[in-house]
This record gives sequence, structure tokens and C-alpha cells, in this order.
Amino acid sequence: MSALLCPDCRIEMEAQRHYGVTVDVCPACAGVWFDESELRLLMEIDPLILLSIDDRALPDVQYAPEETVSRRCPRCALLLHPYRYLYDSPVELDSCDQCHGIWVDNGELHKMHEALLAQQSPSELEKHRQAVAQYEIEHQERVERAGLLASLFSLLRKRVPPFSGF
Ligand SMILES: [Zn+2]
Ligand SMILES: [Zn+2]
Repeated sequence: MSALLCPDCRIEMEAQRHYGVTVDVCPACAGVWFDESELRLLMEIDPLILLSIDDRALPDVQYAPEETVSRRCPRCALLLHPYRYLYDSPVELDSCDQCHGIWVDNGELHKMHEALLAQQSPSELEKHRQAVAQYEIEHQERVERAGLLASLFSLLRKRVPPFSGF
């Protein structure tokens, strides 16, 4: 598989693996491309994933963004459309209508994390568990191949609060 091109810089992005999921990071502008459901899955595995990806993706000091650039999907080449993360957060991302990939500008990952924290509730863990079960149904082959399921459940187990004992 050849490397994807950054929607802003048009240079080859670098693959980064997190928990068996590969995301593409631009070495110049430090933007990050997530394929469909990768972002959701990674955040279910590790609520701090946005921060750790952001910390590893540092923009080139030489980088000067071009205001007029029309962002296109690195997979489909269609124009990306802006949308609000979590529907009403202050974070604006770009997504592809066809493949549902998401483009995240440098620095937006931290803002996304803050938006996410603001929404957390006691029922969050149960929702995570259901989403992981749903992911297993939708992507069974891929999950098994990546050995993701075992790590998903062991990570979730660690996050379950003790109801008795201790
Ligand atoms: Zn770039
Ligand atoms: Zn696309």
C-alpha cells in the first residue's frame, strides 16, 4: 500500500500504529488522517490516545499553511467537508462523505480531548463496552487479524471500577 498524501501539504504521510490501528500523520503540518471508525475505536481503547498522538506529531517549523488550499480526501480525492466534532463542540474537523475518513489539524487533537472530557458521564463505560461489542460484530475479521480484541477487552477490564472486594 502506498503512502497517503497530506490533504494540505500534498506530501506523503507517515503511518503510526496505536493499539494495532494505523493512522497517517503528516511530517510537515502534523495533521492526522483517521480512516472510518479508527478514531472512535482508538478513543474507546484509550481515552488519552488523542494526547499521545498529538505529542508524537510535531509540526515542522518551516511549515506555513496555505489558506486557499482545497482539502481533498487522501483516499477518494473528493473534497472534504467541515463538520463539528461531537456535533456541538467548538472543534471543526474535515471529513469525506464517501469513505468517512476524518482529517484533524495539528492542535485539534487536544481540543477534541477537552471536548470529550466535558461530555463524560458515569454511564460512559457501559457505552464503551457496547461500542466495542458492536465493533467486534462489524469488523470481526479485521479485529481478529490484528489481535485487537484481546487487548481491547483487557484494557476495558482494567477500567472497570471494582463493585465488590478490595
Ligand atoms: Zn501536511
Ligand atoms: Zn474519502
